[in-house]
Amino acid sequence: MKKLTLQEKQLTAEALIHKIKELHTPGETVRLMEVCGTHTVSIFREGLRQLLPEGIELVSGPGCPVCVTDQTYMDKALAYADRDDVIIATFGDMLKVPGSYSSLSEAQTKGAHIHVIYTPLEIIELGKQHPDKHIIFLAIGFETTIAVIGATVKAVAASGLDNVFFLVSHKLVPPALRALLDRQAGHIDGFILPGHVSVIIGEEPYRFLAEEYHIPSCIAGFDGVEILSAVVNILEQRKMQHFYVGNTYHSVVMKEGNPVARQIMNEVYEPCDDIWRGIGMIPESGLSLTGEYATYDAEIALPITLDRPSKEIKGCQCGSVLQGLIKPNECPLFGTSCTADHPVGACMVSVEGSCAAWYKYGYAS
Ligand code: SF4
Repeated sequence: MKKLTLQEKQLTAEALIHKIKELHTPGETVRLMEVCGTHTVSIFREGLRQLLPEGIELVSGPGCPVCVTDQTYMDKALAYADRDDVIIATFGDMLKVPGSYSSLSEAQTKGAHIHVIYTPLEIIELGKQHPDKHIIFLAIGFETTIAVIGATVKAVAASGLDNVFFLVSHKLVPPALRALLDRQAGHIDGFILPGHVSVIIGEEPYRFLAEEYHIPSCIAGFDGVEILSAVVNILEQRKMQHFYVGNTYHSVVMKEGNPVARQIMNEVYEPCDDIWRGIGMIPESGLSLTGEYATYDAEIALPITLDRPSKEIKGCQCGSVLQGLIKPNECPLFGTSCTADHPVGACMVSVEGSCAAWYKYGYAS
């Protein structure tokens, strides 16, 4: 697809806003959830909220992988980090994610072996360099990341290493959307669907939104024009009362997704129930290692017991933020005890977290 110049983009955006105003009935409230944290950041960066007519609300959803990783998972990671024979391998954005009592960055200052990696395959080199240690990789993330980590699990198996393991808490987007609708039907009028996740899974896994819940949805790219195009598509679906999975990101997202990536996911993992931070258990919303790959599951290979029960962070409303029930600045801790420099909850930790985005772009008061 031809890349638009800045001026062309501006003209296209103006035309799309005009179209949105035509499609929107004045006085009507339409709540559209942008599922993905990258969309949340783009919406702020491009000032889209201010351009939309009054009554069209964009609500942030649960699409930030760090934010939805629950404290019990972090407590387990911390329990492993406490062991002398373990090196935790993780992406840097997990360091400040709060567990019930501490975080990995605090553990690191106390001497825990925590190694920040930039690509999952680095764990193979780590395993070779430290044959006397267990390397435990914190395997979190949505479908986009799952395929890459699944390929890493296969690479570890092929390497013959017996000291590299995965602490798995992957999350699947479609079951989370179903759970949101089941829990608060009527509060979401449409979904702006995540571009990156959809590259892997395609359109099919979202069809239940239209077929079972009569909810319009549209896969969107990440610049302002692409997001506004998705809003137009959703409003058109509402107007016509004809619901389907729209896709305004066809240059990147194929109807069938990426079959190779999905094949890897199906080979390495099987669905399981999983717990989302502040939201609770969502059926079939996670994955666990399966078959021959289950031997690389850290919790199977190196079982641990938590010496204290996990608990929610007092006052943090991440669960309500992630479900679109409140805006970040409606959390009493927002901008007071919870800031970008001193985050209390996971939604303020990640750059893709709703609270961090609201804070960064000036909604602190
Ligand atoms: Fe949690 Fe902080 Fe967001 Fe409140 S502002 S919901 S404490 S992350």
